[in-house]
Amino acid sequence: MELIPDAVPSTLRKINIRGTLELLKLHGECSRADLTRMLGVSAPTMSKLLDKLLQDKFIEEFTVDPVGKGRPSKMYRLAEKSVFIAGVVIDIIECRAVCAGLDGKFRPSGVINFSTPGTYGEMLNLIAGYVKESAAGHSGSCLGVGVSVPGLINSHGHIELSPNIPMLNGRNIHNDLRKMLDCKVCVVQEEYGMCMAERQFGSSASCPDFVLVDISSGMGMGVFCGNRYVHGSHGFGGELGHITVKPDGPLCSCGNYGCLEMLAGDKAIAGKLSEKLGREVKCRDLIRVVREEGLDVSAELEEAIYYLSIGIANVINLFNPSRVVIHGSMFDLDKESFSRLKRTVKRRALPPAFATCAIQRSKLIKIHGAIAAICAGIFESTGPQIDR
Ligand SMILES: [Zn+2]
Repeated sequence: MELIPDAVPSTLRKINIRGTLELLKLHGECSRADLTRMLGVSAPTMSKLLDKLLQDKFIEEFTVDPVGKGRPSKMYRLAEKSVFIAGVVIDIIECRAVCAGLDGKFRPSGVINFSTPGTYGEMLNLIAGYVKESAAGHSGSCLGVGVSVPGLINSHGHIELSPNIPMLNGRNIHNDLRKMLDCKVCVVQEEYGMCMAERQFGSSASCPDFVLVDISSGMGMGVFCGNRYVHGSHGFGGELGHITVKPDGPLCSCGNYGCLEMLAGDKAIAGKLSEKLGREVKCRDLIRVVREEGLDVSAELEEAIYYLSIGIANVINLFNPSRVVIHGSMFDLDKESFSRLKRTVKRRALPPAFATCAIQRSKLIKIHGAIAAICAGIFESTGPQIDR
């Protein structure tokens, strides 16, 4: 039986195209018969859907040898060799880029790092250059680019405020990159990207209510509530790092005093360590410097845990998530520190909300967010997704 039989044919076709892609994402490699059965369409309809997806290069067909006698059978998967997608993370000091298949698997060339350029124009040129060079080097064209940025992006794609990378303020990376590249571009706020990555590649795939807290450079938060991301009225929600937790605390880049991100997280500890040593310690080098030089940062870590627990407890009380996923490396300073954070949060959060919430560390990195963003953008462009 066809899905939604009363829908107009073009809508139904789009729903079925999207449904076929979602099935391949969920199950990996599938036969035509499997897809026909799982989608609930006729064999001729599935043939047309697969032809269209092959033509658009969203999927690949390959053959597998039979176990016993018989002919090799055709199988289908999301495109991983014939085309690629690119993910780019724009960050304070260093940016990262990677190429992947539409299944999200990174290409063997791996993640490359480059210093964050001094001007916006250089940044665009580097991203466009990376995509073009990758297209020249890979056997195939680029289906799309996902870009993850720190800062507030409004619903029209303009970056309203990026306190840590001011050259992005007022820019529209989506529009500017589209002029330079002949492919789809998706630009997302970094925590939104990380949340999408947790749902696509991480532990929160079937979790309708979860919160991601990113403490890796500054502090941000992404919230999924009832299977929907909480953007806020204009896309500026989730700025956990700029809630005041110590009114007479240090001056923040946002202009306020005592913001959470000044007191907790990798950047806060790296900042205090820099003061102590009289030289700059970057977030990415925090763990290495502490280990190599045998430094004692237990006081700084305890203070960070104290303030972070206030933030996490408030998040649990406000949103009642079933999971809080934390992305950052400060807990690598002391293997017991994450347990201490959980115990401190337990003392501060309301017991019923805490009892139904798991607090865990993310296994993903930011570049997964950029890849998840473009994967989602390409999938959404094919048609609406329906619950099955
Ligand atoms: Zn602030």
